[in-house]
Amino acid sequence: MHIYPLYINGEFKETQTSQDVINPSSGEALAQVSVARANDIDLALACARDAFDHGEWPRLPLAKRKEFILKISQGILENAAELSRLESENAGKPIKETTFMDVPSSAKSFEHFAQNLEKYLASESLEISQEASQAEAHLVREPRGVVVLIVPWNYPLLIAAWKMSQALAAGNTVILKPSSLTPLTALALAKIIHSAGLPKGVVNIINASGDTVGEALCSDKRADMVSFTGSNEVGKKIIQYSAKSVKKLTMELGGKSAAIVLKDVDIGTTVNSLLCAVFLNQGQMCTAMSRIFIDQAIYEKFTSEFIEKVKRIKLGPALDFETQMGPLISDTQRKKVLAFVEKARAEGAKVLCGGKISADPKLKSGFFFEPTVLTGVSKDAQIFQEEVFGPVVCLAKFSHIQEAIDLANASNFGLAASVWSSDAKVSQEIAAKINSGTCWINTYGMFYNEAPYGGFKQSGFGKELGKEGFLEYTRLKNIIQDKSSDAKPIVSYWYGF
Ligand code: NAD
Repeated sequence: MHIYPLYINGEFKETQTSQDVINPSSGEALAQVSVARANDIDLALACARDAFDHGEWPRLPLAKRKEFILKISQGILENAAELSRLESENAGKPIKETTFMDVPSSAKSFEHFAQNLEKYLASESLEISQEASQAEAHLVREPRGVVVLIVPWNYPLLIAAWKMSQALAAGNTVILKPSSLTPLTALALAKIIHSAGLPKGVVNIINASGDTVGEALCSDKRADMVSFTGSNEVGKKIIQYSAKSVKKLTMELGGKSAAIVLKDVDIGTTVNSLLCAVFLNQGQMCTAMSRIFIDQAIYEKFTSEFIEKVKRIKLGPALDFETQMGPLISDTQRKKVLAFVEKARAEGAKVLCGGKISADPKLKSGFFFEPTVLTGVSKDAQIFQEEVFGPVVCLAKFSHIQEAIDLANASNFGLAASVWSSDAKVSQEIAAKINSGTCWINTYGMFYNEAPYGGFKQSGFGKELGKEGFLEYTRLKNIIQDKSSDAKPIVSYWYGF
């Protein structure tokens, strides 16, 4: 079986230990991947540090840096079919999703940040209003240094591409740690980056379980920033590790997003849209609209159409183009989802459909779980409050808009929400009262390289994408220069000599 090596300091490195990577559609081993040990982490940190402090990357003319990053984008497009297959096999994402979303969007991120880096990095001069001052403040955007990128298994290539395209375009050197469940596309990206000819040590890609290497990576003073996407629980650990050496953090954590459906919607279209908002990627989306609040005037009609369509969702192996829902990432994740449903039942919820492991004999060796719809869930129930990260949604009715807003906001998370209505003004008024970093109106899951994305409350802090997300990967230096024409700066008068 093919062993994927790590990528450190421009070299592919097989280590003494390797792990199996599982195909969740079949439950079988798909590949073997080298596992990084403490000495590999130390090497990656040392090389990324050296490449930043002494290498050419942060000091390259911006046009040259742009050229390198565009080559990565091009490399992804040239290898798109292979990357899509690999991502589907490894993460269980239906091939239609990886082919039309994950892989082209990854290439697009590198392209966008390459094309815009000069604009985003433009320095600025400030006018100083203080009387008699001859000073001029010049604000300069610099890269932060060595950035550790830690990504989850639900969008392994895309989230890595978001982070890496921004970090590299800003002039940083990086260490990418994918989830050890889904390291294959990150390691395939290493080959593309190598072919693009980036200087040694600028990009390092390692594989290891977070528990074993997380502290070493995130507490080390050679790393200037950690950009993390993952669970709330791990995010809190990383905040603690990083406190040891004080560094910049961005935290994209979990969610418990809500959709509010008003009575003036076209029911068929809204049901179709919300199926996508709940069940895409088997519901393993941080922004999954896992709570849907529906105006009581249309609740019955909406619910029966929703259930009827959920039952038609076609489960199947990720590599089949007909598949609409693949397997969950692992048996452990499936057990977790099942436990959530069982607890919800015990707390009084009614299961309208699904709620169990797929009985299809053709799917029995993979980690399949039926799309599940619940009602009768109270605000205090575990499933209302905690992230399931699987194909499970709770439906509830509301009688007035403020009640729907209060229900949507009754969560410790604040990642995303959506409003569905044909009244643009009312939708915008609701969006203004929603306590989440993103609020979609009559759409879902639209992420744009131009527009920042990130959560409030326990969903974390910092942004990804857009100018604001890009600037997280920079530090702002203020250079203040006295420009007095007589070459006698104002400070020289203080002691009167
Ligand atoms: P996870 O937190 O278990 O793992 C994420 C990454 O952290 C993995 O690479 C993992 O190896 C690493 N890790 C684990 N323990 C670590 C430690 N002690 N120190 C350092 N790194 C460690 O998350 P997951 O199960 O891979 O992904 C699902 C979670 O990610 C969900 O909670 C989901 O909401 C969240 N997520 C959030 C966003 C967002 O944009 N807000 C996007 C996608 C996923």
